[in-house]
Amino acid sequence: MGLVEIRADLHIHTSLSPCSDTWRMTPRAIVERARGLELRMIAVCDHNSMRNVEAVQRAAKGSGVVVLPGMEITSWEEVHILGIFQALEGAWAMQAFVDENLPGENIPEVFGYQVLMDENDEIVGSEDRLLAGATTLKVEEVVEAIHRFGGLAIASHVDREGFGIIGQLGWIPETLSLDALEVSWAMTRPEARQRFPEISKWPLLRSSDAHSPEEIGRAWTRLLVSQGTWAELKMALKGEDGRRVLGGS
Ligand SMILES: [Zn+2]
Ligand SMILES: [Zn+2]
Repeated sequence: MGLVEIRADLHIHTSLSPCSDTWRMTPRAIVERARGLELRMIAVCDHNSMRNVEAVQRAAKGSGVVVLPGMEITSWEEVHILGIFQALEGAWAMQAFVDENLPGENIPEVFGYQVLMDENDEIVGSEDRLLAGATTLKVEEVVEAIHRFGGLAIASHVDREGFGIIGQLGWIPETLSLDALEVSWAMTRPEARQRFPEISKWPLLRSSDAHSPEEIGRAWTRLLVSQGTWAELKMALKGEDGRRVLGGS
């Protein structure tokens, strides 16, 4: 099978994240923007929830955009870790585990609205859990659970002071089996490598962490793969059979 270069933005929030542009960050708007930017693969990663993933997947049917199930989990140490799952079943299993370990109830007027939508951008409910809060899970437990449920564990925006693993812990523990690190849109990967030399040990992705439609694609990663699937992403991170992570936007 021939290899092709694709664009991937693997960190996009929806109306479910309290800090998002609630009424504009809808399933259809996300797919429309991704298609316009020729993003072949995106991952929907709301804070501590994957409950809007299926709506975006259904909105993307026939669009050519592959939507991977994801979640941005906040560990007890307030480190953000992305879980990007092969299958919805795994993402749901992770959700059940996160639900059991996420204390607190949302106050929309204080923390923001957490809106569940369907593929037609219709509001179907809201989430009462405090998604903006931290779980009681240590960062090791988060990474271990992501792997247990068939996901890739990626440390979010490692160059950021707040909620980035280096900013929160001071370093990246050698024992942590992360599959990749994410550099934020605010810094290029060469800049990040220069500033944080230790990160060069891991594959580096760069994603938008979009909270509004305009932010989608403000950073992306080019991947050399045979097609836009989770399995191919995993091979690219491991550098298997010619698959690899190329430069970013
Ligand atoms: Zn984050
Ligand atoms: Zn995020």
